[in-house]
Amino acid sequence: PLSFLKNSCCHESGSSIYQRMKHIADIFPLLETPRKIVITTHYKPDADAIGSSLGLYHYLIQYGHQVQVIAPSEVPDFIQWMPGADTVLNYEARTDEAVKALDACDYIFCLDFNHPSRVRTMEARLTAATQPKIIIDHHLEPLSNFFAYGESNPDKSSTCEMIYDFIVLHKGEQKINQEIMQCLYAGCMTDTGSFRFPATTASVHEMIAFFKHRGLEHSRIHEAIYDSYSANRLRLLGHVLHTLDLNEEEHYAIMSLSLGDAYKYEVKSGDTEGFVNMALSIKSIAVAVFLTERQNREVRISFRSKGNIDVSEFARKYFNGGGHFNAAGGVSHDGLEATINKIKTLISTKKLTQFIK
Ligand code: 5GP
Ligand code: MN
Repeated sequence: PLSFLKNSCCHESGSSIYQRMKHIADIFPLLETPRKIVITTHYKPDADAIGSSLGLYHYLIQYGHQVQVIAPSEVPDFIQWMPGADTVLNYEARTDEAVKALDACDYIFCLDFNHPSRVRTMEARLTAATQPKIIIDHHLEPLSNFFAYGESNPDKSSTCEMIYDFIVLHKGEQKINQEIMQCLYAGCMTDTGSFRFPATTASVHEMIAFFKHRGLEHSRIHEAIYDSYSANRLRLLGHVLHTLDLNEEEHYAIMSLSLGDAYKYEVKSGDTEGFVNMALSIKSIAVAVFLTERQNREVRISFRSKGNIDVSEFARKYFNGGGHFNAAGGVSHDGLEATINKIKTLISTKKLTQFIK
């Protein structure tokens, strides 16, 4: 019954007053002479956000473009190893420099997000920018009239895979170097749960095969991401696992992290990445929820599901969020306990079956 919410397409702006977003290939002629380019991505960037941004950065600089990657907030430690990570401007920490770069550029690439609200504190600046914005993204429900050019494809595993597609379409495969491969592999690996989620298509494996032929040492990337955490992060995981609240009859599990415990375990950006998936490892569980308490009663919520349950719609409908079919996020301002209770009530009264597609 809710299938109309599925399969949104970038061209469905819903109103004829909006211009259609132009195809991504339409920007190729504009990139024939060196330009000033800003690449930006979503708040609290993950490996796909920074991997796609730096992958594109390492590609475009080979054509003489002046490229600046701007992240709305800091690049977390677990991706600081990426080639070029030290060149990324953190908008929150270095606002003046970031604004200068935004003012001076000719084009703005927007990667791994599809709505200006996803850059949070940078939203007003990004919205005010008059330069053409180019989206490359794989989330559901894009605000397509915000972007002049681009590609929005929720069937893609990752934005990193889409940067590879962009390069292939641009006939630039021969420019794919170690830097590009390391960045793109990392984001594709994390967004596919190490190549296990349904979006891991034959095209994904063909891209990786191409990288392997060009000499990518993939195991070094796994090690850099998954075997490089602090001891505190493992203790934090132990703590979070103990908060597990199971409802096997209704097939959901909730875990949470309070602000007090976040201080206690000295949580850093990126430390809780992947925790939510662990609750899905229980056979009877189809929906996993992980809540992180922030300042002022704000709570960030991560949703994950197995199979045909659309958590992006759930997040959009009740928690001002969105994302992908099986992985989404949202926010609440009711504090931790009340938010947990709200989720339980929603799941029990609305029944998850409503979100089965
Ligand atoms: P995570 O749970 O890892 O933070 O997010 C899961 C997925 O949902 C990611 O692809 C992320 O981009 C998306 N997402 C997370 N929070 C939000 C949100 O507040 N709004 C939207 N539209 N997407 C979100
Ligand atoms: Mn992504």
